[in-house]
Amino acid sequence: MYRAPRGTQDILPPEQPYWRYVEQKAAEICRLYGYERIDLPMFEDAGLFTRGVGEGTDIVEKEMYVFEDRGGNSLALRPEAGTASVCRAYLEHGLHNRPQPVRLFYLGPAFRYDRPQAGRYRQHHQFGCEAIGDADPALDAEVIDMAWQFFVSLGLGRFKIVLNSIGCKKCRPEYLSSLKEHYSPHTDEVCDDCKVRFQKNPLRLLDCRSPQCQPIADAAPKSTDYLCAECTEHYNDVKRYLGSLEIPFEENHRLVRGLDYYTRTVFEVQPEEGGAQSSLGGGGRYDMLIEELGGKPAPGIGFATGIERIILGLQKEIVPVPSISSPQLFIANMGHEARDAALKLSTTLRRNGTAVIMATGSRSLKAQLRQANNLNVPRVAIIGEDEVKTGTVVLRDMTTSQQESMPVGKLLELFK
Ligand code: AMP
Repeated sequence: MYRAPRGTQDILPPEQPYWRYVEQKAAEICRLYGYERIDLPMFEDAGLFTRGVGEGTDIVEKEMYVFEDRGGNSLALRPEAGTASVCRAYLEHGLHNRPQPVRLFYLGPAFRYDRPQAGRYRQHHQFGCEAIGDADPALDAEVIDMAWQFFVSLGLGRFKIVLNSIGCKKCRPEYLSSLKEHYSPHTDEVCDDCKVRFQKNPLRLLDCRSPQCQPIADAAPKSTDYLCAECTEHYNDVKRYLGSLEIPFEENHRLVRGLDYYTRTVFEVQPEEGGAQSSLGGGGRYDMLIEELGGKPAPGIGFATGIERIILGLQKEIVPVPSISSPQLFIANMGHEARDAALKLSTTLRRNGTAVIMATGSRSLKAQLRQANNLNVPRVAIIGEDEVKTGTVVLRDMTTSQQESMPVGKLLELFK
């Protein structure tokens, strides 16, 4: 028997209210902040991610699903739902001609060949937004505020914003050399991954989780001490705006995020308890990415959240979500002619906007009522031979078990 591939999940009907709830809150927050929806392909040229997200990052090097299609093109299932693809779309469709910044949001799957565990899947879903075309620190504050308000609107209570600035092309090299200087006496003590990071991507030394690397990373120099004047001013402005918006944030010099494209502001939404491994969402500024992808320079900032993690949070905090409404009427029927009448009646009701389920198969009336009950349908119309002859139905209220016989016309009136 086939099973869903490891690390993927079916989202069955009982889980759907959570998904609808999160999607609806996402759409609502985007409406409030003026972000428009964009839908993007699930696969792209692999090069978009190797150039954009960066070779030497875990999600590209170790986790990306790369394949060659029948035309010999090297494609990749997108390892992140939005940023690189949105930037590609921005360039492809000349969105720089629209008023800047362009504000876009997306919802959809991302694919990472990771070791599956609770909250970590090979196919997961992200909601994210991007604002491209403006370097104003007020935009950083807007995006962080939006992420914050999104989690507030979901009813999640226990989370915090963690913030850092990792500088720009101008000031980062000096920081990286001092970081390497700090690590160089410890290259024998650090974990194997960090030995590679030291050579290839020293910034990522800071978000290592191996116990032996913790004291070294904790004592590392801080990127914020090496920011150039412009980056310092930008970072101070972001913090000042967040302060005036009363968004609580915590600075953490070890927050660097896994991807190459970030510049200046980086942030994460983390649960109060649980630490960085269980981040609910994250984002940052990527002022070089559009240029890196071959466009005229355009700064950008965005954030993405994992929907499965949000739902785990909602379930953990027992946040009530609205149920998806059940059909209004179930039509039970016995015998050939009653089936005919039931089929016609169902269709008439649906054309008038009433949600109806009709019993099929050849179960007893008792079994049909049980089915209606299991489906949470509040009322059942029963049609048997007598009802067919007299043009009536018996309407049963499933809560009180009261029944009333009435002409079909009256039933149609009732459900108008
Ligand atoms: P990232 O760009 O890696 O920070 O991912 C953005 C968000 O997506 C994270 O904060 C998580 O909520 C979620 N996420 C990332 N990877 C996974 C995964 N493998 N499974 C489930 N959720 C994930």
